[in-house]
Amino acid sequence: MLKPKTLFSLCLLSCISLYSYPTKWLQEYIKIPTFSPTGEEKAFLYIASLLEQNGIKYQFITYKGRTVALFSKLEKDSSLPTLILMHHLDVVPAEGKRWKYPPFSGVLKEGKIWGRGAIDAKGLGIAQLLAFIKISKNREKLNRNVAMLVVCCEEKGGTEGVGWLIRNRKDIFLNSWVINEGGIAKRFTNGVGWWGIEVVQKKPLWIKISARGRGGHSASGYLDNPLHKLLVVLNGILELKFEPRITEAGKLFLKRVKPLEPVGIAKIIAKVLEKKTFDTLFPGMQSFLYDTLQITMVSGSQSINIVPEKAEAYIDMRLLPDTDIEGVLKSIKEKATQKNLEVEILLQNRYSPISSLDSIGFKTLEKVLSKEAPVVPFFLPGFTDARFLREAGIDVYGISPFVLDPLSTSGIHGANESISEKEFIKGVRRMEAIVKEWAF
Ligand SMILES: [Zn+2]
Repeated sequence: MLKPKTLFSLCLLSCISLYSYPTKWLQEYIKIPTFSPTGEEKAFLYIASLLEQNGIKYQFITYKGRTVALFSKLEKDSSLPTLILMHHLDVVPAEGKRWKYPPFSGVLKEGKIWGRGAIDAKGLGIAQLLAFIKISKNREKLNRNVAMLVVCCEEKGGTEGVGWLIRNRKDIFLNSWVINEGGIAKRFTNGVGWWGIEVVQKKPLWIKISARGRGGHSASGYLDNPLHKLLVVLNGILELKFEPRITEAGKLFLKRVKPLEPVGIAKIIAKVLEKKTFDTLFPGMQSFLYDTLQITMVSGSQSINIVPEKAEAYIDMRLLPDTDIEGVLKSIKEKATQKNLEVEILLQNRYSPISSLDSIGFKTLEKVLSKEAPVVPFFLPGFTDARFLREAGIDVYGISPFVLDPLSTSGIHGANESISEKEFIKGVRRMEAIVKEWAF
Protein backbone atom coordinates (compact mmCIF):
# COMPACT_ATOMS: atom_id res chain seq x y z
CA MET A 1 0.00 0.00 0.00
CA LEU A 2 1.27 3.48 -0.80
CA LYS A 3 2.01 5.67 2.17
CA PRO A 4 0.40 9.17 2.14
CA LYS A 5 3.82 10.77 1.68
CA THR A 6 4.49 8.71 -1.41
CA LEU A 7 1.02 9.47 -2.70
CA PHE A 8 1.65 13.17 -2.22
CA SER A 9 4.93 13.00 -4.14
CA LEU A 10 3.12 11.25 -6.96
CA CYS A 11 0.43 13.91 -6.82
CA LEU A 12 3.07 16.49 -7.58
CA LEU A 13 3.59 14.54 -10.78
CA SER A 14 -0.08 15.36 -11.45
CA CYS A 15 -1.83 12.10 -10.72
CA ILE A 16 -5.02 11.84 -8.70
CA SER A 17 -4.05 11.08 -5.14
CA LEU A 18 -5.38 11.21 -1.64
CA TYR A 19 -4.05 14.75 -1.38
CA SER A 20 -5.71 16.14 -4.48
CA TYR A 21 -9.02 16.60 -2.78
CA PRO A 22 -8.14 18.46 0.46
CA THR A 23 -7.46 21.53 -1.68
CA LYS A 24 -10.55 20.98 -3.80
CA TRP A 25 -12.72 20.55 -0.71
CA LEU A 26 -11.39 23.72 0.88
CA GLN A 27 -11.91 25.64 -2.36
CA GLU A 28 -15.51 24.43 -2.59
CA TYR A 29 -16.15 25.20 1.09
CA ILE A 30 -14.80 28.75 0.67
CA LYS A 31 -17.06 29.27 -2.35
CA ILE A 32 -20.12 29.07 -0.08
CA PRO A 33 -20.41 32.52 1.55
CA THR A 34 -21.50 31.86 5.11
CA PHE A 35 -22.24 35.06 6.98
CA SER A 36 -24.39 33.74 9.74
CA PRO A 37 -27.19 32.83 9.24
CA THR A 38 -27.11 33.23 5.42
CA GLY A 39 -25.38 30.40 3.63
CA GLU A 40 -24.91 28.28 6.74
CA GLU A 41 -27.50 25.71 5.65
CA LYS A 42 -25.73 25.21 2.33
CA ALA A 43 -22.38 24.79 4.06
CA PHE A 44 -23.84 22.24 6.50
CA LEU A 45 -25.18 20.30 3.51
CA TYR A 46 -21.79 20.44 1.83
CA ILE A 47 -20.03 18.86 4.83
CA ALA A 48 -22.85 16.34 5.13
CA SER A 49 -22.41 15.35 1.46
CA LEU A 50 -18.70 14.65 2.02
CA LEU A 51 -19.50 12.47 5.04
CA GLU A 52 -22.19 10.66 3.05
CA GLN A 53 -19.82 10.00 0.14
CA ASN A 54 -17.57 8.30 2.65
CA GLY A 55 -20.30 6.23 4.26
CA ILE A 56 -20.33 8.13 7.56
CA LYS A 57 -23.58 8.75 9.44
CA TYR A 58 -24.31 12.16 10.94
CA GLN A 59 -27.12 14.15 12.47
CA PHE A 60 -28.20 17.75 12.09
CA ILE A 61 -29.03 19.44 15.37
CA THR A 62 -31.77 21.97 14.76
CA TYR A 63 -33.62 24.57 16.76
CA LYS A 64 -36.78 26.25 15.47
CA GLY A 65 -36.04 25.07 11.95
CA ARG A 66 -32.48 26.35 11.95
CA THR A 67 -29.49 24.02 11.83
CA VAL A 68 -27.29 24.81 14.78
CA ALA A 69 -24.78 22.00 14.32
CA LEU A 70 -23.81 18.83 12.50
CA PHE A 71 -22.62 15.99 14.69
CA SER A 72 -21.07 12.69 13.70
CA LYS A 73 -19.46 10.09 15.92
CA LEU A 74 -17.25 7.07 15.26
CA GLU A 75 -17.86 5.02 18.35
CA LYS A 76 -15.92 2.04 19.58
CA ASP A 77 -17.82 1.88 22.86
CA SER A 78 -20.02 4.51 24.49
CA SER A 79 -18.19 4.11 27.80
CA LEU A 80 -14.89 5.23 26.22
CA PRO A 81 -13.79 8.87 26.06
CA THR A 82 -14.33 10.87 22.87
CA LEU A 83 -12.22 13.41 21.03
CA ILE A 84 -14.52 15.97 19.38
CA LEU A 85 -13.11 17.82 16.36
CA MET A 86 -14.97 21.12 16.34
CA HIS A 87 -14.98 24.06 13.94
CA HIS A 88 -17.37 26.87 13.02
CA LEU A 89 -18.53 27.14 9.42
CA ASP A 90 -19.52 30.80 9.43
CA VAL A 91 -17.14 33.56 8.41
CA VAL A 92 -16.91 37.32 8.81
CA PRO A 93 -17.99 39.49 5.85
CA ALA A 94 -15.47 40.40 3.17
CA GLU A 95 -15.43 43.46 0.98
CA GLY A 96 -13.90 42.63 -2.37
CA LYS A 97 -12.18 45.94 -3.13
CA ARG A 98 -8.99 45.35 -1.16
CA TRP A 99 -8.73 41.70 -2.15
CA LYS A 100 -6.27 40.51 -4.75
CA TYR A 101 -8.68 37.73 -5.76
CA PRO A 102 -12.43 37.75 -5.05
CA PRO A 103 -13.03 36.68 -1.41
CA PHE A 104 -15.36 33.81 -2.29
CA SER A 105 -13.48 32.52 -5.33
CA GLY A 106 -11.38 29.94 -3.47
CA VAL A 107 -8.83 30.21 -6.28
CA LEU A 108 -5.46 28.51 -6.16
CA LYS A 109 -2.97 31.15 -7.26
CA GLU A 110 0.65 31.81 -6.37
CA GLY A 111 0.69 28.52 -4.46
CA LYS A 112 -2.06 29.72 -2.11
CA ILE A 113 -5.73 29.00 -1.63
CA TRP A 114 -7.47 32.39 -1.42
CA GLY A 115 -10.71 33.35 0.21
CA ARG A 116 -12.66 34.18 3.33
CA GLY A 117 -12.46 31.27 5.73
CA ALA A 118 -9.24 29.79 4.27
CA ILE A 119 -7.83 29.96 7.79
CA ASP A 120 -10.74 31.02 10.03
CA ALA A 121 -11.97 28.31 10.19
CA LYS A 122 -12.76 26.35 7.01
CA GLY A 123 -9.14 25.30 6.54
CA LEU A 124 -9.14 23.83 10.04
CA GLY A 125 -12.53 22.25 9.35
CA ILE A 126 -11.37 20.46 6.21
CA ALA A 127 -8.20 19.25 7.98
CA GLN A 128 -10.42 17.84 10.75
CA LEU A 129 -12.81 16.29 8.25
CA LEU A 130 -9.98 14.59 6.36
CA ALA A 131 -8.61 13.12 9.59
CA PHE A 132 -12.09 11.99 10.61
CA ILE A 133 -12.73 10.27 7.26
CA LYS A 134 -9.30 8.63 7.36
CA ILE A 135 -10.05 7.20 10.81
CA SER A 136 -13.44 5.97 9.63
CA LYS A 137 -11.76 3.70 7.06
CA ASN A 138 -10.28 1.71 9.94
CA ARG A 139 -13.06 2.08 12.46
CA GLU A 140 -12.78 -1.57 13.53
CA LYS A 141 -9.35 -0.72 14.95
CA LEU A 142 -10.59 2.16 17.13
CA ASN A 143 -9.44 2.16 20.74
CA ARG A 144 -11.35 5.32 21.62
CA ASN A 145 -14.16 7.38 20.11
CA VAL A 146 -13.80 10.30 17.71
CA ALA A 147 -16.50 12.80 16.76
CA MET A 148 -16.87 15.71 14.39
CA LEU A 149 -18.87 18.78 15.38
CA VAL A 150 -19.56 21.59 12.92
CA VAL A 151 -21.24 24.62 14.46
CA CYS A 152 -22.94 27.78 13.30
CA CYS A 153 -22.57 31.43 14.17
CA GLU A 154 -19.31 31.67 16.11
CA GLU A 155 -18.55 34.98 14.45
CA LYS A 156 -21.85 36.31 15.84
CA GLY A 157 -20.76 35.42 19.37
CA GLY A 158 -21.75 31.73 19.34
CA THR A 159 -24.61 32.14 21.81
CA GLU A 160 -26.99 30.48 19.33
CA GLY A 161 -24.41 27.87 18.34
CA VAL A 162 -22.13 26.28 20.94
CA GLY A 163 -23.82 28.36 23.65
CA TRP A 164 -27.15 26.79 22.67
CA LEU A 165 -25.63 23.28 22.53
CA ILE A 166 -24.30 23.64 26.07
CA ARG A 167 -27.71 24.77 27.31
CA ASN A 168 -29.72 22.16 25.40
CA ARG A 169 -27.54 19.29 24.14
CA LYS A 170 -24.79 18.97 26.69
CA ASP A 171 -25.13 15.20 26.30
CA ILE A 172 -23.03 15.26 23.12
CA PHE A 173 -20.05 16.49 25.15
CA LEU A 174 -20.29 13.78 27.79
CA ASN A 175 -16.92 12.15 28.60
CA SER A 176 -15.29 14.19 25.81
CA TRP A 177 -12.51 16.64 25.14
CA VAL A 178 -12.47 19.04 22.24
CA ILE A 179 -10.05 20.34 19.63
CA ASN A 180 -11.03 23.80 18.40
CA GLU A 181 -9.47 26.86 16.76
CA GLY A 182 -7.48 29.40 18.76
CA GLY A 183 -3.97 28.00 19.01
CA ILE A 184 -0.92 29.28 17.20
CA ALA A 185 2.22 27.98 15.60
CA LYS A 186 4.95 30.54 16.25
CA ARG A 187 6.99 30.82 13.13
CA PHE A 188 10.73 31.31 13.26
CA THR A 189 12.84 31.70 10.11
CA ASN A 190 13.74 28.01 10.09
CA GLY A 191 10.20 26.72 10.63
CA VAL A 192 7.92 26.38 13.62
CA GLY A 193 9.52 27.75 16.79
CA TRP A 194 6.84 26.57 19.22
CA TRP A 195 3.27 25.37 19.22
CA GLY A 196 0.85 27.34 21.33
CA ILE A 197 -1.99 25.09 22.45
CA GLU A 198 -4.70 27.45 23.63
CA VAL A 199 -5.87 26.46 27.11
CA VAL A 200 -7.37 29.72 28.37
CA GLN A 201 -8.68 32.97 26.94
CA LYS A 202 -9.95 36.39 27.80
CA LYS A 203 -13.56 37.06 28.73
CA PRO A 204 -15.64 39.18 26.36
CA LEU A 205 -17.87 41.91 27.71
CA TRP A 206 -19.86 43.66 24.98
CA ILE A 207 -22.00 46.58 26.01
CA LYS A 208 -24.42 48.93 24.34
CA ILE A 209 -25.08 52.33 25.89
CA SER A 210 -28.15 54.28 24.79
CA ALA A 211 -29.12 57.89 25.39
CA ARG A 212 -32.47 59.50 24.65
CA GLY A 213 -33.39 63.15 24.24
CA ARG A 214 -35.55 65.61 22.40
CA GLY A 215 -34.54 65.54 18.75
CA GLY A 216 -35.23 68.21 16.19
CA HIS A 217 -33.69 70.93 14.09
CA SER A 218 -30.13 71.61 15.13
CA ALA A 219 -30.78 75.39 14.98
CA SER A 220 -33.11 75.18 18.00
CA GLY A 221 -31.53 76.40 21.17
CA TYR A 222 -33.44 74.35 23.74
CA LEU A 223 -32.71 70.79 22.58
CA ASP A 224 -31.67 68.02 24.89
CA ASN A 225 -29.09 66.32 22.67
CA PRO A 226 -28.66 62.60 23.53
CA LEU A 227 -25.39 62.45 21.62
CA HIS A 228 -23.89 65.11 23.91
CA LYS A 229 -24.91 63.12 27.00
CA LEU A 230 -23.51 59.96 25.46
CA LEU A 231 -20.18 61.60 24.67
CA VAL A 232 -19.82 62.89 28.24
CA VAL A 233 -20.42 59.39 29.57
CA LEU A 234 -18.05 57.82 27.04
CA ASN A 235 -15.36 60.28 28.07
CA GLY A 236 -15.84 59.22 31.66
CA ILE A 237 -15.60 55.56 30.68
CA LEU A 238 -12.38 56.17 28.77
CA GLU A 239 -10.89 57.59 31.95
CA LEU A 240 -11.37 54.29 33.77
CA LYS A 241 -7.95 52.92 34.65
CA PHE A 242 -7.01 49.33 33.96
CA GLU A 243 -3.72 48.48 35.60
CA PRO A 244 -1.50 45.81 34.02
CA ARG A 245 -1.07 42.59 35.93
CA ILE A 246 0.15 39.04 35.49
CA THR A 247 -2.67 36.60 35.86
CA GLU A 248 -2.28 32.86 36.40
CA ALA A 249 -3.02 32.40 32.68
CA GLY A 250 -0.41 35.00 31.69
CA LYS A 251 2.21 33.49 33.97
CA LEU A 252 1.55 29.98 32.65
CA PHE A 253 2.11 31.09 29.07
CA LEU A 254 4.95 33.59 29.54
CA LYS A 255 7.03 31.31 31.78
CA ARG A 256 6.90 28.46 29.29
CA VAL A 257 7.51 30.60 26.22
CA LYS A 258 10.41 32.63 27.65
CA PRO A 259 13.21 30.10 27.01
CA LEU A 260 11.94 29.52 23.46
CA GLU A 261 12.00 33.15 22.35
CA PRO A 262 15.01 35.16 21.09
CA VAL A 263 17.15 36.77 23.83
CA GLY A 264 15.67 40.28 23.48
CA ILE A 265 12.08 39.10 23.93
CA ALA A 266 13.06 36.64 26.67
CA LYS A 267 14.57 39.56 28.63
CA ILE A 268 11.34 41.57 28.35
CA ILE A 269 9.31 38.57 29.51
CA ALA A 270 11.68 38.01 32.45
CA LYS A 271 11.25 41.63 33.58
CA VAL A 272 7.48 41.40 33.31
CA LEU A 273 7.42 38.12 35.23
CA GLU A 274 9.50 39.68 37.98
CA LYS A 275 7.01 42.57 37.90
CA LYS A 276 9.95 44.92 37.53
CA THR A 277 8.46 46.84 34.65
CA PHE A 278 5.49 46.87 32.33
CA ASP A 279 6.89 49.82 30.36
CA THR A 280 8.77 47.86 27.72
CA LEU A 281 6.63 45.20 26.09
CA PHE A 282 6.90 43.38 22.79
CA PRO A 283 4.16 44.11 20.22
CA GLY A 284 0.89 42.54 21.24
CA MET A 285 2.09 41.77 24.77
CA GLN A 286 -0.28 44.35 26.28
CA SER A 287 -3.20 42.05 25.54
CA PHE A 288 -1.86 39.44 27.97
CA LEU A 289 -1.50 41.96 30.80
CA TYR A 290 -4.35 44.44 30.46
CA ASP A 291 -8.11 44.48 30.39
CA THR A 292 -8.90 46.31 27.17
CA LEU A 293 -11.78 48.60 26.29
CA GLN A 294 -12.60 49.82 22.80
CA ILE A 295 -15.53 51.99 21.75
CA THR A 296 -16.18 50.57 18.31
CA MET A 297 -19.42 52.18 17.10
CA VAL A 298 -21.28 55.41 17.86
CA SER A 299 -24.48 56.48 16.14
CA GLY A 300 -26.66 59.58 16.20
CA SER A 301 -28.71 61.14 13.44
CA GLN A 302 -28.39 60.69 9.69
CA SER A 303 -27.86 64.36 8.90
CA ILE A 304 -25.64 67.20 10.10
CA ASN A 305 -28.62 69.47 10.84
CA ILE A 306 -30.76 66.96 12.73
CA VAL A 307 -30.39 66.35 16.45
CA PRO A 308 -31.18 62.67 17.08
CA GLU A 309 -33.79 61.41 19.50
CA LYS A 310 -31.52 58.54 20.33
CA ALA A 311 -27.79 57.96 20.38
CA GLU A 312 -25.98 54.67 20.88
CA ALA A 313 -22.47 53.47 21.51
CA TYR A 314 -21.02 49.98 21.44
CA ILE A 315 -18.11 48.99 23.63
CA ASP A 316 -16.01 45.86 23.16
CA MET A 317 -14.11 44.85 26.28
CA ARG A 318 -11.73 41.92 26.63
CA LEU A 319 -11.15 41.13 30.27
CA LEU A 320 -8.38 39.08 31.81
CA PRO A 321 -9.54 35.66 33.08
CA ASP A 322 -9.60 36.73 36.74
CA THR A 323 -11.04 40.25 36.30
CA ASP A 324 -14.06 40.97 38.46
CA ILE A 325 -16.64 41.51 35.74
CA GLU A 326 -19.21 42.84 38.25
CA GLY A 327 -16.74 45.51 39.38
CA VAL A 328 -16.14 46.65 35.80
CA LEU A 329 -19.87 46.75 35.06
CA LYS A 330 -20.53 48.72 38.24
CA SER A 331 -17.99 51.40 37.25
CA ILE A 332 -19.53 51.71 33.77
CA LYS A 333 -23.08 51.83 35.11
CA GLU A 334 -22.12 54.54 37.61
CA LYS A 335 -20.86 56.72 34.77
CA ALA A 336 -23.99 56.03 32.70
CA THR A 337 -26.37 56.74 35.58
CA GLN A 338 -24.99 60.27 35.95
CA LYS A 339 -26.72 61.10 32.65
CA ASN A 340 -29.60 58.63 32.93
CA LEU A 341 -28.31 56.42 30.14
CA GLU A 342 -29.23 52.77 29.62
CA VAL A 343 -26.60 50.05 29.71
CA GLU A 344 -27.31 46.78 27.95
CA ILE A 345 -25.04 43.75 28.12
CA LEU A 346 -24.81 42.10 24.70
CA LEU A 347 -22.26 39.41 25.45
CA GLN A 348 -20.40 38.33 28.53
CA ASN A 349 -18.60 35.40 30.08
CA ARG A 350 -18.16 35.41 33.81
CA TYR A 351 -15.50 32.74 34.11
CA SER A 352 -12.58 31.69 31.99
CA PRO A 353 -11.05 28.57 33.51
CA ILE A 354 -7.83 26.97 32.27
CA SER A 355 -8.15 23.57 30.54
CA SER A 356 -6.08 20.90 32.26
CA LEU A 357 -2.47 20.37 31.24
CA ASP A 358 -2.53 16.90 32.80
CA SER A 359 -5.39 15.56 30.73
CA ILE A 360 -4.96 12.80 28.18
CA GLY A 361 -6.14 15.29 25.55
CA PHE A 362 -3.36 17.79 26.22
CA LYS A 363 -0.82 14.99 26.44
CA THR A 364 -1.95 13.57 23.09
CA LEU A 365 -1.51 16.95 21.40
CA GLU A 366 1.83 17.49 23.12
CA LYS A 367 3.12 14.07 22.07
CA VAL A 368 2.36 14.62 18.39
CA LEU A 369 3.19 18.31 18.01
CA SER A 370 6.40 18.23 20.07
CA LYS A 371 7.95 16.00 17.39
CA GLU A 372 8.32 19.22 15.39
CA ALA A 373 8.72 21.89 18.07
CA PRO A 374 8.18 22.47 21.81
CA VAL A 375 4.62 22.90 23.05
CA VAL A 376 3.46 25.84 25.16
CA PRO A 377 0.10 26.30 26.94
CA PHE A 378 -1.19 29.39 25.17
CA PHE A 379 -3.27 32.21 26.62
CA LEU A 380 -5.45 33.60 23.82
CA PRO A 381 -6.07 37.33 24.20
CA GLY A 382 -9.29 36.97 22.17
CA PHE A 383 -12.20 34.59 22.58
CA THR A 384 -13.67 31.59 20.76
CA ASP A 385 -16.49 29.10 21.28
CA ALA A 386 -14.17 27.30 23.71
CA ARG A 387 -15.37 29.64 26.44
CA PHE A 388 -18.84 28.03 26.58
CA LEU A 389 -17.31 24.59 26.97
CA ARG A 390 -14.74 25.58 29.58
CA GLU A 391 -17.43 27.29 31.65
CA ALA A 392 -19.30 23.96 31.55
CA GLY A 393 -16.21 22.07 32.75
CA ILE A 394 -15.17 20.54 29.41
CA ASP A 395 -11.49 20.53 28.41
CA VAL A 396 -10.92 22.33 25.11
CA TYR A 397 -7.66 22.89 23.32
CA GLY A 398 -7.25 25.43 20.55
CA ILE A 399 -4.71 24.45 17.95
CA SER A 400 -3.54 25.66 14.57
CA PRO A 401 -2.18 22.74 12.57
CA PHE A 402 -0.87 25.30 10.09
CA VAL A 403 2.33 27.30 10.43
CA LEU A 404 1.27 30.65 9.02
CA ASP A 405 3.36 33.52 7.70
CA PRO A 406 2.56 37.06 8.96
CA LEU A 407 0.80 37.93 5.70
CA SER A 408 -1.58 35.01 6.04
CA THR A 409 -2.24 35.86 9.69
CA SER A 410 -3.14 39.45 8.80
CA GLY A 411 -5.79 38.08 6.42
CA ILE A 412 -7.81 36.64 9.31
CA HIS A 413 -10.83 38.97 9.52
CA GLY A 414 -8.91 41.19 7.04
CA ALA A 415 -8.36 41.37 3.29
CA ASN A 416 -6.63 38.61 1.31
CA GLU A 417 -7.19 35.72 3.70
CA SER A 418 -5.21 32.86 2.19
CA ILE A 419 -3.19 29.81 3.05
CA SER A 420 -0.24 28.29 1.26
CA GLU A 421 -1.40 25.02 -0.28
CA LYS A 422 1.79 23.31 0.86
CA GLU A 423 1.23 24.39 4.47
CA PHE A 424 -2.42 23.45 4.28
CA ILE A 425 -1.49 19.90 3.25
CA LYS A 426 1.10 19.77 6.05
CA GLY A 427 -1.62 20.82 8.49
CA VAL A 428 -3.94 18.11 7.16
CA ARG A 429 -1.21 15.55 7.90
CA ARG A 430 -0.63 16.96 11.40
CA MET A 431 -4.32 16.73 12.17
CA GLU A 432 -4.36 13.14 10.95
CA ALA A 433 -1.39 12.31 13.15
CA ILE A 434 -3.14 13.78 16.21
CA VAL A 435 -6.39 11.94 15.62
CA LYS A 436 -4.59 8.65 14.89
CA GLU A 437 -2.54 9.01 18.06
CA TRP A 438 -5.78 9.33 20.01
CA ALA A 439 -7.91 6.81 18.17
CA PHE A 440 -5.64 3.80 17.58
ZN1 LIG B 1 -12.81 31.54 14.03
